[in-house]
Amino acid sequence: MTDSPSLAPGRYGLERTDQCVKCALCLPHCPTYRLTALESESPRGRIRLMEALESGEVGFDPTVVAALDHCTGCLACEAVCPASVPYGDLIDRVRTVLPARRRFSLGHLAIGLAEHPDRLRFFDRLLRILARTGLPSVLGRILAGPGGRPFRLLPSPYPPKPVQKGQWLPAGPPAGRVALLAGCFSSLWSPALYDAATRVLTRWGHPVEIPESPLCCGALARHSGMETRALRQQQKARSRLDPSIPLLVADSGCWQEARGLANQVFELTAFLVREWPEGIQAAFAKSQRIALHVPCSQSAQVRNPRAAERLLGHIGEAILLPFELPMGCCGGAGSYLLDRPEWADRFAATLLAALPQPHPDRIVTTNLGCRMQLETALRGARLAIPVQHPVEILDAALGNPSAKPSPSGNC
Ligand code: SF4
Ligand code: SF4
Repeated sequence: MTDSPSLAPGRYGLERTDQCVKCALCLPHCPTYRLTALESESPRGRIRLMEALESGEVGFDPTVVAALDHCTGCLACEAVCPASVPYGDLIDRVRTVLPARRRFSLGHLAIGLAEHPDRLRFFDRLLRILARTGLPSVLGRILAGPGGRPFRLLPSPYPPKPVQKGQWLPAGPPAGRVALLAGCFSSLWSPALYDAATRVLTRWGHPVEIPESPLCCGALARHSGMETRALRQQQKARSRLDPSIPLLVADSGCWQEARGLANQVFELTAFLVREWPEGIQAAFAKSQRIALHVPCSQSAQVRNPRAAERLLGHIGEAILLPFELPMGCCGGAGSYLLDRPEWADRFAATLLAALPQPHPDRIVTTNLGCRMQLETALRGARLAIPVQHPVEILDAALGNPSAKPSPSGNC
């Protein structure tokens, strides 16, 4: 570390770093430590750096900034810490002051778009036109390094249309009404997930409403250390929702922010397990090997890592296979997959070796960022394995692989 500008001790509110007893139990669980074996890339190393920043011992030396910036925010360290160090709060806090976070980046562009639905829709139309020309995949191939990463990350084929807001009525006797959160990029790039969710939920008897689309919860901004923008975004989302209608969240990356958006908020997969109606049976015609990827957000934030396993365990002829990533994290991690392209590529390079053998028929994940990382790695290896949300797999097993739900105006 180099000499730093003098800083007033205690200025960043990182005092709770003193809870860390430096036991190192978190180190083997940390993806960046597993990738590098460097103390500075471990939770303990980062906490030590935060202590040094807080006391004024160091300043924003590039090596300090880089070590804090490389953290994926997976919170695997927090989950295993015997001293209950609030690592997530600490890293969020320090990131609000990191100089690297103030510079313009693709992640910042994504956050800016997510804040303005009209701009996001315009951007989506532009991308759809570009995708028809085939240019993004050509650029993704030509620009082999990190420069081509944004093009390689785009869904291929590009979804035909984004999620539309609307209301859907069940055919049978109605159960309780629910609202579905169609998040910012998720509403553009995962429309099949929301089609499947409305079909399954109406089959379960629930009148379903997508009140607004896209509707950003603020998670992208929070993950990038932009707390004020995240809170503003959350407030905006709350004003678009009826708090009395239970809100279902499909994307585990949105959970942390979304759970304050209504009086009752449920993670979609767990909700479907809980509400599985008597007499409904789901089965594939022939056996399907399904690899279960559990996103960090599903473990550390939703705190229900077995939700997909429980849901898909109801499906006949579904063979569930663990898909444990060698580093623990895929490197998707909010805007990490855009803003730390070299690191995201390093994580992506480790994914395929962990695929169950023989290869599965489908891979399941509950987070859009993980899906993008996995799809990009699979495309690069020319492996045609679909990566889907558990509700898409359930929908297919119920016999609705491609049917479209019919919106109704009078829910
Ligand atoms: S963060 Fe927790 S687990 Fe990691 S070194 Fe500190 S006390 Fe130990
Ligand atoms: S949040 Fe994840 S990447 Fe960051 S220090 Fe903790 S375990 Fe490592």
